Amino acid sequence: MNEYDSNRILDITKKINYLPTTKKSEADCYIINTCHIREKATEKVFHDVGRVKKEFRNKKKPILIIVGCVAQAEGDLILKKDRYIDAVIGPQSYQSINKVIEDIEFKKKQYDITNFETIDKFDLLKSTINCNSKISSFLTIQEGCDKFCKFCVVPYTRGPEHSRNFDEILDEAESLIRNGSREITLLGQNVNAYQNNNKRLSDIIYALEKKRDLKRIRYTTSHPKDMTNDLLDAHKDCEKLMPLLHLPVQSGSNKILQSMNRKHTIQEYLEVIHKLKEKNSKIKFASDFIIAYPGEEDDDFNETCKLMETIKFINSYSFIFSPRPGTPASEMKMVDAKLAKKRLIIFQNIAEKIKLNYKKNLLNQIVKVLFENKMIKEKNKYFGRDEYQNPVVVNSKKNIIGQEKRVLIKKFSQQTIYGELIDNNKFLAA
Ligand code: SAM
Ligand code: SF4
Repeated sequence: MNEYDSNRILDITKKINYLPTTKKSEADCYIINTCHIREKATEKVFHDVGRVKKEFRNKKKPILIIVGCVAQAEGDLILKKDRYIDAVIGPQSYQSINKVIEDIEFKKKQYDITNFETIDKFDLLKSTINCNSKISSFLTIQEGCDKFCKFCVVPYTRGPEHSRNFDEILDEAESLIRNGSREITLLGQNVNAYQNNNKRLSDIIYALEKKRDLKRIRYTTSHPKDMTNDLLDAHKDCEKLMPLLHLPVQSGSNKILQSMNRKHTIQEYLEVIHKLKEKNSKIKFASDFIIAYPGEEDDDFNETCKLMETIKFINSYSFIFSPRPGTPASEMKMVDAKLAKKRLIIFQNIAEKIKLNYKKNLLNQIVKVLFENKMIKEKNKYFGRDEYQNPVVVNSKKNIIGQEKRVLIKKFSQQTIYGELIDNNKFLAA
């Protein structure tokens, strides 16, 4: 979501002639976009600010603005701590950015813009063309969260749930496709909670399915509680909807899920997975896990490991619980740090083994890859992703960017899978 926001901020600042540059030392304005989901977020901001100061030690100071969730959560503290920072702007206030930049050019004062003005923000985005021309693009359809999981800072930094207007979303999708996008990932903190004038996430997916030049649709991140029947059906009906679903579960223990306020049980989670597999037998899953949440005992942790073994998530993001200021869980008794680390290592080893097996099984299989770009350093090598978002590299003398091709998988490394392009006719005869 921050990547989408950063690109949109650039679309906005272009209106006052602030254009992106890759030459850091020549920038007139720095905008640092931040994430507050786990610890050390604020320290990272001050490190980045330190780097800017060093770069400009003997030159005219650039405008320096901190945006994103750290700005929202700790804006006044940041401004007080370092006078070098000109402004903090929260994630729902990007519509103010051009005015703030122009004001800073003339006035030497600090600005704290951290109101929740989501409707104004989306109004501005509506009238600002999305200039992204990537093969695979993000499109934010929903922001904020009303679920208040006890560990999570999002409801406090991104504010209440807000869904964008359906037609605006389709207009933005149309402009992305016109610019060359062939894959669109619909984004939201709770993307499947999308609801606007009786339109739901499934309506957006069905509408995108009809766009001729769009090849792939994805959505993230979903809450298991909001996997409604219409959305499950879309996984059966829509060929362009990719068969990989990121469905965060956080823990395999009902006791911990309840203490987190996740609003579902493991049995309900498994039922969603089961139904999705019935709709589309190709579907696979990725998930997020919080290890060593307050109150997690050995039995709870073992349940999480068991869940990993049962579902065999092909991708997972696991972190030790990080107490976020202002959240209810931050006041709960932490699991011993050494034990937490030990559990994380055990869990990640299980996850790695599952991933390795999955990759081994891909060898000599044919997968469908959408090619996104040419590799910069290597000649005739193209990078793309298969339907499960695995990064795949092939050799090709022809430019295959933006094309979906069949690839025979030959080998893999930690990060990448390598394959050979298959001649279409050969594939059909096989
Ligand atoms: N809305 C999504 C959901 O409910 O599943 C998740 C969005 S959250 C921004 C992304 C992930 O960050 C979560 O799934 C969780 O695993 C992780 N996360 C959030 N707060 C955390 C915390 N305090 N400590 C560790 N991980 C955290
Ligand atoms: Fe955070 Fe997701 Fe829970 Fe909302 S549903 S509070 S974004 S973890």
